[in-house]
Amino acid sequence: MNIADSENVVSMLINSGDFEITNNINQTDVIIVNTCSVRKHAEDREESFIGNLKKLKIKNEELKIIILGCFAQNAKLELQKKFPFVDLIVGPLDYEYLAEILSNVFQRNISKNYKYLNLFNKVSVFVPIMTGCDNYCSYCIVPYVRGREKSRSLDEILDEIKNLLYKDIKEIVLIGQNVNSYKYIDKENSYIGFSELLKKIANLGVNKKFWIRFLTNHPKDMSYEIIKTIKDFPNVARHIHLPLQSGSNRILELMNRKYTVEKYKQIVNMIRDNIKDIAITTDLIVGFPTETEEDFKHTLQAVKDIRFDSAFVFKYSPREKTKATELKDDIPKEVKEERHYKILTLCDNIAYQINKSYINKIKDVLIHSYVNKNGNVILIGKTIENKTVEIFSDKKNFVGNFVKTKIVDVKFHTLVGEIVG
Ligand code: SF4
Repeated sequence: MNIADSENVVSMLINSGDFEITNNINQTDVIIVNTCSVRKHAEDREESFIGNLKKLKIKNEELKIIILGCFAQNAKLELQKKFPFVDLIVGPLDYEYLAEILSNVFQRNISKNYKYLNLFNKVSVFVPIMTGCDNYCSYCIVPYVRGREKSRSLDEILDEIKNLLYKDIKEIVLIGQNVNSYKYIDKENSYIGFSELLKKIANLGVNKKFWIRFLTNHPKDMSYEIIKTIKDFPNVARHIHLPLQSGSNRILELMNRKYTVEKYKQIVNMIRDNIKDIAITTDLIVGFPTETEEDFKHTLQAVKDIRFDSAFVFKYSPREKTKATELKDDIPKEVKEERHYKILTLCDNIAYQINKSYINKIKDVLIHSYVNKNGNVILIGKTIENKTVEIFSDKKNFVGNFVKTKIVDVKFHTLVGEIVG
């Protein structure tokens, strides 16, 4: 979400005609720092980065420093006190007025009716379909910094995607805190849910090959209609990110996740029964307050049973304002670290075994970029299951193309491929 917000702010400024991008922080006239509040660690790094900008402001008094993002929303007054040299602090709840706010700061006309500019030559672009979240998971700060859930209008989303496809973008990533609860009432008073939205997007630009991805999903909103739509449209990714968070029903209840492990497994079965070769990835939190060894064992067991293609594993960190802070953060750091290591190792081993099953398969790979390594060019791409593939090939012009690739090897999370056509 922050990447999408950053690109949109930059597009907004550049559209006004008075700005351009520089790679040299020492020569810039404007620095915009987009911040995240999801974990304490992110905030600490941001504070240190912002603190270091003071010396640039001393050298150049004309320099404008702007702080955006969830941390700006969450700690505006503290940030103002701590960093008085910062010119503007705006959080996501005020983004609808961002064009006016920036127009005032820069004394120029900055319009909110801007077109996304593909400034970084990306093959894959994030398209927000909603903002905010109504779920109030007890550990999560998002509803407090991004507000209540609000779906964007269907026409706005379709126009934006058509414009991107016209610019030859090959992959649209629909993003939101909970995309599968997308809901919108259109001009004809018809209800558009996430599966309808997916169908409408999948049917766009039929003469151009493109893929649609989406993240992230809440298990309670994953329906048969959505699964059927994914199955029916071969250009919708064979990948669902479905955060489980814990394998213990007691902890899930304390987290206010609104499902049980049994329900979660039923959803996974429904997905796998209907869609062949789909990748399922997840998020897990270890060390949530009161998590016992028994609770943790349930999480290990759930991971063994479900077998995720990959998992992001986080150590619980209390976020102010959230319900979970009413519970004592009682799991010692070393225990959190040990559980984090154990579960990560298990997830990595399962991911490796699943990835090995790709060997000898021929896959369509969308090439995103290339790197130079020890004098060789390596193309980096993704399969429709969101598996990263490395291909030794000097065909840099393949970036932005779908390439038939034979998978010949696996390096833990990465597949290694050879172009076959
Ligand atoms: S659904 Fe996701 S964004 Fe919403 S409160 Fe829960 S964890 Fe946070």
